[in-house]
Order: sequence, then structure tokens, then C-alpha cells
Amino acid sequence: MKTIFQALDFANQELEKLDAQLLKRKLRVTESPCDISAKVGERRLKAFCSNDYLGLANHPLLLRALADGANQYGVGSGASHLISGHHIAHDLLEKKLASFQGTHIPDARALFFSTGYLANIAALTGLAKLADFGKASIYSAKLNHASIIDGVRLASTQTRATVHLFDHADLDTLQKKISSDSAPLKIIVVDGVFSMDGDLAPVKALLDIANTYDALLMVDDAHGFGVLGENGHGLLELLNIASDRIIYIGTLGKAAGVSGAFICAQEPFIEWLIQKGRPYIYSTATPPAIAHTVLKSLEIIESEEGKTRREQLKKLINIWQEEMVFSTWEKISSPTPIQPIVLGSNANALLASKLLDEAGYWIPAIRPPTVPVGSSRLRVTFSANHSVGDLRILIKTLQTIEQQVIAEAAV
Ligand SMILES: *Cc1c(COP(=O)(O)O)cnc(C)c1O
Repeated sequence: MKTIFQALDFANQELEKLDAQLLKRKLRVTESPCDISAKVGERRLKAFCSNDYLGLANHPLLLRALADGANQYGVGSGASHLISGHHIAHDLLEKKLASFQGTHIPDARALFFSTGYLANIAALTGLAKLADFGKASIYSAKLNHASIIDGVRLASTQTRATVHLFDHADLDTLQKKISSDSAPLKIIVVDGVFSMDGDLAPVKALLDIANTYDALLMVDDAHGFGVLGENGHGLLELLNIASDRIIYIGTLGKAAGVSGAFICAQEPFIEWLIQKGRPYIYSTATPPAIAHTVLKSLEIIESEEGKTRREQLKKLINIWQEEMVFSTWEKISSPTPIQPIVLGSNANALLASKLLDEAGYWIPAIRPPTVPVGSSRLRVTFSANHSVGDLRILIKTLQTIEQQVIAEAAV
């Protein structure tokens, strides 16, 4: 009894501290489908915050695919993949996903997961087991997504892999470290597009390092899949690279507009992860209707419509680069639909987000620990459903709000 009261006291005190540091996050309930307009309570907000970059989350063809999938397969998979939950819809989806990376990974096979978080944990813990206990080295970029960080930590706990963090802007240091590493298994892991900055990882240079020092290169393309490359196949297509040492992670709840994720790699690696990837083995398979819906989304991504949607994103990105000028705020330029504005303090980021809300916009403040302390920001994201007019009005609004925040800070 006593411990529970202590735990409650502890929770309450820590929550108050978070609140005082302006770090307490609040859930917001939305009642409308994910799109460029969101119904929140009685209000309608213009949303520039989702990762639904291609604007597919509320696409009529996908709504129909989900209903058809439910009619065909029911709503639950009933079991994990290795028991009886692996349906034909999963199988067809995995084959299609493998074909997307086929020119970049020889003998490619794909494995579908319910989330990117799980896919990263399964890939890292599973791959680290490709060496004897204590014999793997993992090189992880400092700004990698939390799910990679957790996967690396768990791999290290389970296999005693050695973990090295590196700065993706300083590959010389990485090269020095890895060149003197005698571990028989080396894994370099990186976000393809860094989720809070929008910059691309130097994947070509990392692949050179991986080739020279015989390492695996794991690339988490959560924000590139569907968006980058002529056919939306992602970062490997954009960079036009091919290698048998790449382990590719794509997620399907962002540009693909649905849910889920996949690992794509040479066939034997995938077969290994089916045997050794605990999050794959011990979790109920995603409903096959979802897999069926994702398959439809991949069709759209590859089609003329997908190309048109990517063209629209490019147009929005170019206008933002040219016309979004601030007097003091720092804009991080990105070739992706992620366009952060760094404001520094939590207070400024929160104030800007609140003023945006009052002006009818939904653009949340992103604070530590999601980003480093002192780099709190607004993370503006585009959807192909936004028009050029929508963007120009946002640019004007942001310029006005910058002046309001500066005036407020001067008081
Ligand atoms: C969103 C994200 C994930 C997690 O994917 P989910 O499918 O949302 O669990 C993994 N990696 C990166 C870089 C992400 O941005």
C-alpha cells in the first residue's frame, strides 16, 4: 500500500516539475479524418503537422480498400504470423514492398510489421545476433529516432553488442573509430531523413564506409518512403544506390497514409529475422485488411497520381524556400516536406504554437527530449493536399506571429 502512495506522490511531483519547465505534453482530441483541415472540439484548424505527406490517409480509394479488405478477411488476424496469422494479403504486400527496393537490394525480401517502432527493435536486436555474444558493434547516429535508440539499447542488453554514437555531420570520426574496430559484425544505423530536422543522412558516404570496413548499413527511411525518388520508392531510389549490405526500413503510416512498417534486405537476413526477431515472433499480426489497404496505397504511390502528388510537394517546398523569410527565427531548409523553424526556448516555441492556434493553425511546438535542449521548434509539414494559396497564407501568418513573439519577449 505504502509504495503505491509513494509512487503516486512521485508521479504528481514529477508531473508538476514537467509543467513548470513547460515540458508537459497535452493530448488533443481530433474528430475528423487526418487531412489538411482538422476538427478539434468546435473548431476547424488548418493542419500543417501530420506526416501524411502525400495526403492519402483520407483517400477515397483507400477507404474503399479498407472496407473491401474487412469484407474479404475480417477484422482481426487472430494470431502471430508464425502461428496462423499470416494471410495472403500480408504475403502480397511483402512481395510488392520487396519489388519497390528490388533494384537497390539484390535478392530483396520484405517483412511487414505493425509499426516502425517494432520493426526497428526487431531489426536491431535480430541483426546483433548475427555474431557471437559480445562480438557485435553498433554505430548509431546521435539524432536517430527514439525507436532506433531503444532498439540499440535492447540489442546491447541482449547480446552485449558494443554501442558507439556518431555525429552524422562528422564521418571522419566515425571512420577512425570503425577502422580500428576488430568486431566481426559491425552495423551502422541511421535515419534516412532526420525526423525533426528534415535533413538527409549522408547515405552514399556511409555506404562507402560500410563497404570498406565490411559493415551492414541499416537505413530507416520513415520520412522518405513514398516521398523521395521518381516512383516514390524512397531514399535509395533518389540516391540511385544498390548494395547487398543495406537493411532498409520503411514505414507505412506516414506518406503511405495507412499503418505499419517493413524491413527489406537480402533474403537470408529476412529469414533470420523471422526466426530470431522477437517482436516479429511474439506479436499478433496486423489485421490483413490493413495490409490490403497498404497494397492499394503502394499502387497509388507508383501511379501517375502519386507522381502528381510528389510534384505538388516539390512546388510547396520550393515556394517555402524562396518566400518564407524571417527576421530572427532560424529556418532549417530541407528537401523534404519537413520544414522546422528553430525558436530555441520552450517558452517561445509554445507561445508561437499558441498564437498559431488562435490564428486557426495546428502546428505543435516540439520540445526536448524529442529535440536537443535549447532547440525547441515549430515543425511545419506539408501535405500534397495543401494548395499554393494555403501555403502563402501560412507564410504571411508566420511572419506576423514572429513579430508578436519578438514583441512579447521584449516586454
Ligand atoms: C515515425 C518513425 C518511426 C516509427 O514508425 P511508426 O510506424 O510510427 O511506429 C521510426 N523511425 C522514424 C525515423 C520515424 O520518424
